[in-house]
Amino acid sequence: MQAAITYFATSRRLIGVSSLRTYTENRLARALASFLIIALGTSALATELVGIRYSDSPHFTRVVFDLTAPPKFKSDLLSEPARFFVDIRDAKLSQNFKTPFVESIQFRGVRFGERNGALRVVLDLTEVKAPKIQTLGPNGPHGNRLVIDFPHEVQESCTAEHDSNIVIVVDAGHGGEDPGAIAVNRAMEKNITLSISKKVQTRINRQPGFRVVMTRDRDYEVPLHNRYRVAQNTKARLFVSIHADAFHNPRPRGASAYVLSQGKAQSELAKWLVQNENRADWVGGVSAWVDSSCYADREKLKFLNVKGRQEALAEAVSVGKKMLHSIDSVAEIHPKSFDSRRGEYQVTDAGFVVLSATAIPSILVETGFLSNPQEARLLSTNAHQNIIANAISDTILRHFCENPPRYTDLAEGKVACDLAPSTMVYKVRNGDSLSVIASRQQVSVSAIRAANDLTSDRIYPGQTLTIPITN
Ligand SMILES: [Zn+2]
Repeated sequence: MQAAITYFATSRRLIGVSSLRTYTENRLARALASFLIIALGTSALATELVGIRYSDSPHFTRVVFDLTAPPKFKSDLLSEPARFFVDIRDAKLSQNFKTPFVESIQFRGVRFGERNGALRVVLDLTEVKAPKIQTLGPNGPHGNRLVIDFPHEVQESCTAEHDSNIVIVVDAGHGGEDPGAIAVNRAMEKNITLSISKKVQTRINRQPGFRVVMTRDRDYEVPLHNRYRVAQNTKARLFVSIHADAFHNPRPRGASAYVLSQGKAQSELAKWLVQNENRADWVGGVSAWVDSSCYADREKLKFLNVKGRQEALAEAVSVGKKMLHSIDSVAEIHPKSFDSRRGEYQVTDAGFVVLSATAIPSILVETGFLSNPQEARLLSTNAHQNIIANAISDTILRHFCENPPRYTDLAEGKVACDLAPSTMVYKVRNGDSLSVIASRQQVSVSAIRAANDLTSDRIYPGQTLTIPITN
């Protein structure tokens, strides 16, 4: 899904210096807000403006300048008429530059000129509103960028709506300018996570008594605090963030689950993940989403106290283990996700400074490794995305059907759970024995024998077995 940010191809339209005169002669005193940023450019070569894109998200309109080098620039907001200009030093329009066709409530058009040797880009606004401006270095499909965000007026209320549904927040990792991991086949994590998340949403919403809220449903960037706010404002019972891994060598593969808690990252993998995902704005943690000031009245504080922090963490670990179990039955999990000595699934503490301060159980699922060619290919297919989405949604539904939270339609018997039959198909792998499979699937050897009419315990790789689900 790349629809939200679009290049518009219309005729090149350069406006000369004369038509800009009225704007540039405006006195600075008339500006309602002004600021000056000089980014540290390292290249002495002329910077080229290759393109301008824009996207509307619920929180802001984002305008992105694609450039060939880190820009040295200054910018200012002016009024009458409302406009924002950026002067990029030692810069010019690229030969192939196409003026974007603009259709946005936030800005009306874009014009170009020259000002003291700098390339001036003027954004005509619908109202005088100071944007946030930042530079981004090359990442994935993108080169150097200048990113300008015009905030929208969003009425955010601290009051959580009463919802008799079990609200699950599904968080599709990354988005917009942040592509996440780039697969060996060039697939982007942000698109894979969105696709799987939407499938999870569809499946869970089919069951009465549940409601999925997405942190994003298109290809745009969602700041961390907004992801939390979604969970906070909807009184979510579970926050599940969906990602796909990448590692610096192509071998690792398989899914893993992380709880976001305080503590040290345990493995090299987890450390790398922390670095990787922190870049994706996870740093700071989910803790921020429960804002105690939003819960001034007793009723809401009671809600927070019912699920204490430890309880939330324990529930997250439990859901994470069940999720690994489900995924293990239909796809591959990372070897670290199963502790063969203790015979149980293992949820990794990612070492994010996060969950200990939140009352909402939160997990992060890495659905596989985009750095592994085979898994990258699989995760790019609709069929495999369906398999993963089924495992995730089925786990969540089962968990809450078995442990319905109080004050919900499900707990009060107003709706009933209608889950898929409790068996799954398991493909025998090299090194499997009936007892290994039984311990992984948490069923008895005799239950597997009975379900498959086995007369002996001999099995072979590639054989499919029906596994009864007991939890
Ligand atoms: Zn990610």
